[in-house]
Amino acid sequence: MVSERMLGLGTARSVIRELFEYGKQRAAVVGAENIFDFSLGNPSVPAPQAVNETAIRILQEQPELIHCYTSAQGDAGARQRFADSLNRRFGCSYTADNFYITVGAAASLCCVFNGLSCPGDEFVVFAPYFPEYKVFIEGAGAKMVLIPPEIQDFQIDFEAFERSVTPQTKGVVVNSPNNPSGVVYSRQTLERLAAILTAKSGEYGHPIYLISDEPYREIVFQGFEVPWIPHIYRDTIVCYSFSKSLSLPGERLGYVLVPGQVTDASQVYAAIAGAGRSLGYVNAPSLFQQVTSLCCDMTSDLSVYERNCKLLVTALREMGYHVAQPGGAFYLFPRSLEPDDVAFSERAKKEFDLLLVPGSGFGAPGHVRIAYCVQTEMIERALPRFAALAASYK
Ligand code: PLP
Repeated sequence: MVSERMLGLGTARSVIRELFEYGKQRAAVVGAENIFDFSLGNPSVPAPQAVNETAIRILQEQPELIHCYTSAQGDAGARQRFADSLNRRFGCSYTADNFYITVGAAASLCCVFNGLSCPGDEFVVFAPYFPEYKVFIEGAGAKMVLIPPEIQDFQIDFEAFERSVTPQTKGVVVNSPNNPSGVVYSRQTLERLAAILTAKSGEYGHPIYLISDEPYREIVFQGFEVPWIPHIYRDTIVCYSFSKSLSLPGERLGYVLVPGQVTDASQVYAAIAGAGRSLGYVNAPSLFQQVTSLCCDMTSDLSVYERNCKLLVTALREMGYHVAQPGGAFYLFPRSLEPDDVAFSERAKKEFDLLLVPGSGFGAPGHVRIAYCVQTEMIERALPRFAALAASYK
Protein backbone atom coordinates (compact mmCIF):
# COMPACT_ATOMS: atom_id res chain seq x y z
CA MET A 1 0.00 0.00 0.00
CA VAL A 2 1.18 3.50 -0.79
CA SER A 3 -0.46 6.89 -0.39
CA GLU A 4 -3.22 7.15 -2.97
CA ARG A 5 -2.84 10.91 -3.21
CA MET A 6 0.92 10.69 -3.79
CA LEU A 7 0.49 7.82 -6.24
CA GLY A 8 -1.99 9.94 -8.17
CA LEU A 9 0.41 12.90 -8.25
CA GLY A 10 3.38 10.73 -9.19
CA THR A 11 1.65 9.02 -12.09
CA ALA A 12 -0.48 11.89 -13.44
CA ARG A 13 0.30 12.98 -16.99
CA SER A 14 1.93 16.36 -17.20
CA VAL A 15 0.68 17.98 -20.39
CA ILE A 16 3.72 20.24 -20.57
CA ARG A 17 6.20 17.38 -20.13
CA GLU A 18 4.32 15.27 -22.69
CA LEU A 19 4.48 18.08 -25.24
CA PHE A 20 8.18 18.52 -24.53
CA GLU A 21 8.86 14.80 -24.95
CA TYR A 22 6.76 14.74 -28.14
CA GLY A 23 8.85 17.64 -29.44
CA LYS A 24 12.08 15.71 -28.95
CA GLN A 25 10.73 12.60 -30.71
CA ARG A 26 9.25 14.63 -33.55
CA ALA A 27 12.54 16.54 -33.99
CA ALA A 28 14.26 13.21 -34.69
CA VAL A 29 11.81 12.67 -37.58
CA VAL A 30 11.40 16.13 -39.15
CA GLY A 31 14.59 17.83 -37.90
CA ALA A 32 14.95 20.12 -34.89
CA GLU A 33 14.57 23.20 -37.10
CA ASN A 34 11.06 22.12 -38.12
CA ILE A 35 9.53 21.77 -34.67
CA PHE A 36 8.46 24.87 -32.73
CA ASP A 37 8.44 24.09 -29.04
CA PHE A 38 6.78 26.80 -26.92
CA SER A 39 5.95 24.45 -24.04
CA LEU A 40 8.53 25.01 -21.30
CA GLY A 41 9.30 28.02 -19.07
CA ASN A 42 13.05 27.48 -19.06
CA PRO A 43 15.00 30.78 -19.31
CA SER A 44 16.64 31.11 -22.73
CA VAL A 45 19.38 33.53 -21.69
CA PRO A 46 22.46 32.45 -19.72
CA ALA A 47 23.13 33.49 -16.13
CA PRO A 48 25.39 36.56 -15.89
CA GLN A 49 29.09 35.74 -16.19
CA ALA A 50 29.51 37.23 -12.69
CA VAL A 51 27.40 34.37 -11.28
CA ASN A 52 29.82 31.78 -12.65
CA GLU A 53 32.86 33.81 -11.59
CA THR A 54 31.47 34.24 -8.08
CA ALA A 55 30.79 30.50 -7.76
CA ILE A 56 34.33 29.67 -8.93
CA ARG A 57 35.91 32.26 -6.65
CA ILE A 58 34.02 30.98 -3.60
CA LEU A 59 34.93 27.38 -4.41
CA GLN A 60 38.60 28.32 -4.77
CA GLU A 61 38.83 30.63 -1.78
CA GLN A 62 36.62 28.90 0.81
CA PRO A 63 36.40 25.21 -0.12
CA GLU A 64 36.38 24.09 3.51
CA LEU A 65 33.46 26.39 4.38
CA ILE A 66 31.17 26.18 1.41
CA HIS A 67 30.12 22.54 1.58
CA CYS A 68 29.03 22.73 5.24
CA TYR A 69 25.56 22.91 6.74
CA THR A 70 24.20 26.41 7.24
CA SER A 71 21.42 27.36 9.67
CA ALA A 72 18.15 25.69 8.70
CA GLN A 73 16.76 29.08 7.56
CA GLY A 74 19.91 29.88 5.58
CA ASP A 75 23.23 31.61 6.23
CA ALA A 76 22.78 34.84 8.21
CA GLY A 77 25.16 36.79 5.93
CA ALA A 78 23.27 35.71 2.81
CA ARG A 79 19.91 36.62 4.38
CA GLN A 80 21.26 40.04 5.40
CA ARG A 81 22.45 40.67 1.81
CA PHE A 82 18.95 39.84 0.50
CA ALA A 83 17.56 42.29 3.08
CA ASP A 84 20.06 45.04 2.15
CA SER A 85 19.24 44.68 -1.53
CA LEU A 86 15.47 45.03 -1.03
CA ASN A 87 16.00 47.89 1.44
CA ARG A 88 18.03 49.78 -1.18
CA ARG A 89 15.51 49.13 -3.95
CA PHE A 90 12.23 49.59 -2.13
CA GLY A 91 13.10 51.76 0.88
CA CYS A 92 12.33 49.10 3.50
CA SER A 93 14.15 48.12 6.70
CA TYR A 94 14.25 44.33 6.57
CA THR A 95 16.86 42.29 8.41
CA ALA A 96 18.22 38.76 8.05
CA ASP A 97 15.53 37.60 10.50
CA ASN A 98 12.77 38.33 7.98
CA PHE A 99 14.11 35.77 5.46
CA TYR A 100 13.81 32.01 5.18
CA ILE A 101 15.97 30.73 2.31
CA THR A 102 14.48 27.86 0.32
CA VAL A 103 15.00 25.70 -2.74
CA GLY A 104 13.09 28.00 -5.10
CA ALA A 105 9.63 29.55 -5.15
CA ALA A 106 7.98 26.12 -5.18
CA ALA A 107 9.43 25.31 -1.75
CA SER A 108 8.73 28.86 -0.52
CA LEU A 109 5.05 28.42 -1.37
CA CYS A 110 4.90 24.98 0.27
CA CYS A 111 6.47 26.38 3.46
CA VAL A 112 3.95 29.24 3.53
CA PHE A 113 0.85 27.12 2.86
CA ASN A 114 1.94 24.49 5.39
CA GLY A 115 2.98 27.09 7.94
CA LEU A 116 -0.34 28.98 7.78
CA SER A 117 -2.93 26.22 7.30
CA CYS A 118 -5.31 25.19 10.07
CA PRO A 119 -8.14 22.67 9.49
CA GLY A 120 -10.84 24.14 7.23
CA ASP A 121 -8.64 26.97 5.86
CA GLU A 122 -8.99 28.20 2.29
CA PHE A 123 -6.64 30.00 -0.09
CA VAL A 124 -8.05 32.07 -2.92
CA VAL A 125 -6.30 31.82 -6.30
CA PHE A 126 -7.04 33.81 -9.47
CA ALA A 127 -7.27 32.02 -12.83
CA PRO A 128 -5.25 31.70 -14.94
CA TYR A 129 -2.83 30.28 -12.38
CA PHE A 130 0.35 28.21 -11.99
CA PRO A 131 -1.15 24.68 -11.72
CA GLU A 132 1.15 23.60 -8.88
CA TYR A 133 -0.72 25.96 -6.49
CA LYS A 134 -3.49 23.38 -6.19
CA VAL A 135 -1.01 20.60 -5.41
CA PHE A 136 0.80 22.74 -2.82
CA ILE A 137 -2.36 24.04 -1.12
CA GLU A 138 -4.03 20.63 -0.94
CA GLY A 139 -0.72 19.13 0.23
CA ALA A 140 -0.96 21.52 3.19
CA GLY A 141 -4.44 20.17 3.99
CA ALA A 142 -6.19 23.37 2.86
CA LYS A 143 -8.67 24.07 0.07
CA MET A 144 -8.01 26.11 -3.08
CA VAL A 145 -10.85 28.46 -4.05
CA LEU A 146 -10.52 29.46 -7.69
CA ILE A 147 -11.72 32.80 -9.07
CA PRO A 148 -12.59 32.47 -12.78
CA PRO A 149 -10.51 34.53 -15.21
CA GLU A 150 -11.46 38.04 -16.20
CA ILE A 151 -10.74 37.25 -19.84
CA GLN A 152 -10.67 40.75 -21.29
CA ASP A 153 -7.36 41.75 -19.69
CA PHE A 154 -6.70 39.13 -16.97
CA GLN A 155 -6.84 41.68 -14.17
CA ILE A 156 -9.25 40.68 -11.34
CA ASP A 157 -13.00 40.00 -11.35
CA PHE A 158 -13.60 41.82 -8.06
CA GLU A 159 -17.25 40.85 -7.73
CA ALA A 160 -16.41 37.15 -7.92
CA PHE A 161 -13.49 37.75 -5.58
CA GLU A 162 -15.56 39.47 -2.88
CA ARG A 163 -18.09 36.64 -2.98
CA SER A 164 -15.32 34.08 -2.49
CA VAL A 165 -13.62 35.58 0.55
CA THR A 166 -15.17 33.96 3.64
CA PRO A 167 -14.29 33.55 7.32
CA GLN A 168 -12.37 30.41 6.20
CA THR A 169 -10.05 32.44 3.94
CA LYS A 170 -6.54 32.28 5.36
CA GLY A 171 -4.80 33.75 2.35
CA VAL A 172 -4.96 34.99 -1.23
CA VAL A 173 -2.29 34.22 -3.81
CA VAL A 174 -1.16 36.74 -6.44
CA ASN A 175 1.39 36.16 -9.17
CA SER A 176 2.35 39.27 -11.13
CA PRO A 177 3.96 39.24 -13.71
CA ASN A 178 1.83 36.19 -14.30
CA ASN A 179 2.45 32.67 -15.52
CA PRO A 180 0.67 31.89 -17.89
CA SER A 181 -0.74 35.26 -19.08
CA GLY A 182 2.30 37.57 -18.72
CA VAL A 183 -0.11 40.16 -17.35
CA VAL A 184 1.06 42.58 -14.65
CA TYR A 185 -1.46 43.74 -12.04
CA SER A 186 -1.71 47.51 -12.08
CA ARG A 187 -1.20 49.52 -8.90
CA GLN A 188 -4.91 50.32 -9.03
CA THR A 189 -5.83 46.60 -9.13
CA LEU A 190 -3.54 45.88 -6.17
CA GLU A 191 -4.89 48.82 -4.16
CA ARG A 192 -8.45 47.67 -4.70
CA LEU A 193 -7.48 44.15 -3.70
CA ALA A 194 -5.77 45.47 -0.56
CA ALA A 195 -8.82 47.56 0.40
CA ILE A 196 -11.10 44.53 0.15
CA LEU A 197 -8.70 42.36 2.16
CA THR A 198 -8.34 45.01 4.87
CA ALA A 199 -12.12 45.31 5.16
CA LYS A 200 -12.68 41.54 5.20
CA SER A 201 -9.89 40.96 7.76
CA GLY A 202 -11.59 43.53 10.01
CA GLU A 203 -15.03 41.99 9.46
CA TYR A 204 -13.87 38.42 10.22
CA GLY A 205 -11.52 39.42 13.04
CA HIS A 206 -8.41 37.69 11.69
CA PRO A 207 -5.70 38.57 9.18
CA ILE A 208 -6.02 37.42 5.58
CA TYR A 209 -2.50 37.04 4.24
CA LEU A 210 -1.59 38.03 0.69
CA ILE A 211 0.96 35.58 -0.67
CA SER A 212 2.86 37.25 -3.46
CA ASP A 213 4.54 34.66 -5.69
CA GLU A 214 7.17 36.72 -7.53
CA PRO A 215 9.60 34.63 -9.60
CA TYR A 216 9.09 37.05 -12.53
CA ARG A 217 9.41 40.28 -10.48
CA GLU A 218 12.39 41.49 -12.50
CA ILE A 219 11.05 40.60 -15.96
CA VAL A 220 8.94 43.69 -16.57
CA PHE A 221 8.54 45.62 -19.82
CA GLN A 222 8.73 49.30 -20.65
CA GLY A 223 5.64 51.21 -19.59
CA PHE A 224 4.71 48.70 -16.87
CA GLU A 225 5.27 48.89 -13.14
CA VAL A 226 5.50 46.01 -10.68
CA PRO A 227 4.76 47.75 -7.38
CA TRP A 228 6.33 46.47 -4.15
CA ILE A 229 3.24 44.79 -2.72
CA PRO A 230 4.17 44.97 1.01
CA HIS A 231 3.92 48.78 0.61
CA ILE A 232 0.31 48.35 -0.58
CA TYR A 233 -0.97 45.64 1.79
CA ARG A 234 0.43 45.16 5.28
CA ASP A 235 -0.12 41.40 5.59
CA THR A 236 1.92 40.45 2.52
CA ILE A 237 4.29 37.48 2.53
CA VAL A 238 6.68 37.35 -0.45
CA CYS A 239 7.84 34.14 -2.17
CA TYR A 240 10.81 34.79 -4.45
CA SER A 241 13.11 32.78 -6.68
CA PHE A 242 16.31 33.34 -8.66
CA SER A 243 15.20 30.75 -11.25
CA LYS A 244 14.12 33.35 -13.80
CA SER A 245 15.85 36.64 -12.90
CA LEU A 246 19.31 35.06 -12.80
CA SER A 247 18.45 32.11 -15.11
CA LEU A 248 19.25 29.57 -12.38
CA PRO A 249 16.24 27.23 -12.27
CA GLY A 250 18.39 24.15 -11.73
CA GLU A 251 20.26 25.59 -8.76
CA ARG A 252 17.04 25.77 -6.69
CA LEU A 253 17.38 29.00 -4.73
CA GLY A 254 14.74 31.40 -3.45
CA TYR A 255 13.33 32.76 -0.21
CA VAL A 256 10.27 33.58 1.83
CA LEU A 257 10.16 37.13 3.17
CA VAL A 258 7.95 37.78 6.21
CA PRO A 259 8.11 41.56 6.77
CA GLY A 260 7.97 42.64 10.43
CA GLN A 261 4.77 44.62 9.73
CA VAL A 262 2.81 41.39 9.09
CA THR A 263 0.25 40.52 11.81
CA ASP A 264 1.80 38.00 14.22
CA ALA A 265 5.02 38.19 12.16
CA SER A 266 7.23 36.25 14.55
CA GLN A 267 4.68 33.43 14.88
CA VAL A 268 4.16 33.35 11.11
CA TYR A 269 7.93 33.21 10.52
CA ALA A 270 8.35 30.45 13.13
CA ALA A 271 5.51 28.43 11.58
CA ILE A 272 7.08 28.79 8.11
CA ALA A 273 10.40 27.60 9.57
CA GLY A 274 8.51 24.71 11.21
CA ALA A 275 6.95 23.83 7.86
CA GLY A 276 10.42 23.92 6.28
CA ARG A 277 11.60 21.51 8.95
CA SER A 278 8.61 19.21 8.53
CA LEU A 279 9.00 19.13 4.73
CA GLY A 280 12.79 18.74 4.86
CA TYR A 281 13.29 22.16 3.20
CA VAL A 282 16.16 23.17 5.44
CA ASN A 283 19.60 24.47 4.51
CA ALA A 284 19.12 25.36 0.82
CA PRO A 285 22.28 24.70 -1.27
CA SER A 286 25.01 26.60 0.54
CA LEU A 287 27.12 27.53 -2.51
CA PHE A 288 24.15 29.19 -4.19
CA GLN A 289 23.00 30.91 -1.01
CA GLN A 290 26.32 32.76 -1.26
CA VAL A 291 26.33 33.22 -5.03
CA THR A 292 22.76 34.56 -5.30
CA SER A 293 23.13 36.84 -2.31
CA LEU A 294 26.36 38.31 -3.76
CA CYS A 295 24.70 38.73 -7.19
CA CYS A 296 21.14 39.64 -6.19
CA ASP A 297 21.40 43.21 -7.49
CA MET A 298 21.98 41.97 -11.05
CA THR A 299 19.91 40.02 -13.55
CA SER A 300 20.56 38.07 -16.71
CA ASP A 301 20.15 40.11 -19.91
CA LEU A 302 16.36 40.00 -19.86
CA SER A 303 15.87 42.28 -22.88
CA VAL A 304 15.32 39.40 -25.30
CA TYR A 305 12.01 38.55 -23.59
CA GLU A 306 10.57 41.99 -24.33
CA ARG A 307 11.78 41.76 -27.95
CA ASN A 308 10.22 38.32 -28.37
CA CYS A 309 7.01 39.52 -26.78
CA LYS A 310 6.65 42.50 -29.12
CA LEU A 311 7.39 40.41 -32.17
CA LEU A 312 4.82 37.76 -31.28
CA VAL A 313 2.05 40.02 -29.99
CA THR A 314 2.20 42.28 -33.05
CA ALA A 315 2.27 39.39 -35.50
CA LEU A 316 -0.41 37.31 -33.77
CA ARG A 317 -2.80 40.25 -33.52
CA GLU A 318 -2.34 40.98 -37.23
CA MET A 319 -3.26 37.36 -37.93
CA GLY A 320 -6.48 37.77 -35.94
CA TYR A 321 -5.54 36.19 -32.61
CA HIS A 322 -6.84 37.86 -29.44
CA VAL A 323 -3.96 38.40 -27.01
CA ALA A 324 -4.25 40.18 -23.63
CA GLN A 325 -1.39 42.68 -23.29
CA PRO A 326 1.50 41.17 -21.30
CA GLY A 327 3.64 43.45 -19.15
CA GLY A 328 6.31 40.96 -18.15
CA ALA A 329 7.43 37.34 -17.60
CA PHE A 330 7.90 35.30 -20.80
CA TYR A 331 4.46 33.91 -21.61
CA LEU A 332 1.57 34.84 -23.91
CA PHE A 333 -1.91 33.51 -23.39
CA PRO A 334 -3.94 34.05 -26.58
CA ARG A 335 -7.46 32.75 -27.08
CA SER A 336 -7.65 29.48 -28.93
CA LEU A 337 -9.44 29.75 -32.28
CA GLU A 338 -12.05 27.24 -31.19
CA PRO A 339 -13.63 26.90 -27.74
CA ASP A 340 -11.89 23.56 -27.10
CA ASP A 341 -8.31 24.58 -26.28
CA VAL A 342 -7.16 20.95 -26.15
CA ALA A 343 -8.42 20.32 -29.70
CA PHE A 344 -6.80 23.60 -30.83
CA SER A 345 -3.47 22.67 -29.26
CA GLU A 346 -3.72 19.22 -30.87
CA ARG A 347 -4.31 20.74 -34.32
CA ALA A 348 -1.38 23.15 -33.82
CA LYS A 349 0.82 20.20 -32.91
CA LYS A 350 -0.30 17.62 -35.48
CA GLU A 351 -0.72 19.87 -38.51
CA PHE A 352 1.79 22.67 -37.89
CA ASP A 353 4.40 21.33 -35.42
CA LEU A 354 3.60 24.19 -33.02
CA LEU A 355 3.72 23.05 -29.39
CA LEU A 356 1.31 25.21 -27.36
CA VAL A 357 0.01 24.29 -23.89
CA PRO A 358 -3.81 24.14 -23.49
CA GLY A 359 -5.18 26.76 -21.08
CA SER A 360 -7.56 24.40 -19.22
CA GLY A 361 -4.73 23.24 -16.96
CA PHE A 362 -4.23 26.87 -15.92
CA GLY A 363 -7.93 27.29 -15.07
CA ALA A 364 -8.69 29.24 -18.27
CA PRO A 365 -10.15 27.02 -21.01
CA GLY A 366 -10.35 28.61 -24.44
CA HIS A 367 -6.72 29.80 -24.31
CA VAL A 368 -3.26 28.41 -24.94
CA ARG A 369 0.07 29.29 -23.35
CA ILE A 370 3.04 30.24 -25.50
CA ALA A 371 6.33 30.21 -23.57
CA TYR A 372 8.45 32.54 -25.72
CA CYS A 373 11.68 32.07 -23.72
CA VAL A 374 13.21 30.75 -26.95
CA GLN A 375 15.55 32.08 -29.63
CA THR A 376 14.05 35.05 -31.51
CA GLU A 377 15.02 33.43 -34.77
CA MET A 378 12.80 30.43 -33.96
CA ILE A 379 9.85 32.77 -33.37
CA GLU A 380 10.49 34.41 -36.75
CA ARG A 381 10.44 31.01 -38.44
CA ALA A 382 7.31 29.98 -36.49
CA LEU A 383 5.21 32.99 -37.59
CA PRO A 384 4.11 31.46 -40.95
CA ARG A 385 2.94 28.40 -38.98
CA PHE A 386 0.82 30.56 -36.67
CA ALA A 387 -0.60 32.26 -39.78
CA ALA A 388 -1.40 28.90 -41.39
CA LEU A 389 -3.02 27.71 -38.16
CA ALA A 390 -5.25 30.81 -38.12
CA ALA A 391 -6.05 30.37 -41.84
CA SER A 392 -7.12 26.78 -41.19
CA TYR A 393 -10.03 28.17 -39.11
CA LYS A 394 -11.27 30.59 -41.79
N1 PLP B 1 5.55 30.15 -9.32
C1 PLP B 1 5.38 30.38 -10.63
C2 PLP B 1 4.30 31.31 -11.06
C3 PLP B 1 6.20 29.76 -11.58
O1 PLP B 1 6.01 30.00 -12.89
C4 PLP B 1 7.22 28.88 -11.13
C5 PLP B 1 8.09 28.18 -12.08
O2 PLP B 1 7.96 28.22 -13.27
C6 PLP B 1 7.35 28.68 -9.75
C7 PLP B 1 6.51 29.33 -8.87
C8 PLP B 1 8.41 27.75 -9.20
O3 PLP B 1 9.65 28.32 -9.37
P1 PLP B 1 11.00 27.70 -8.78
O4 PLP B 1 11.78 27.21 -9.92
O5 PLP B 1 11.68 28.82 -8.11
O6 PLP B 1 10.61 26.64 -7.80
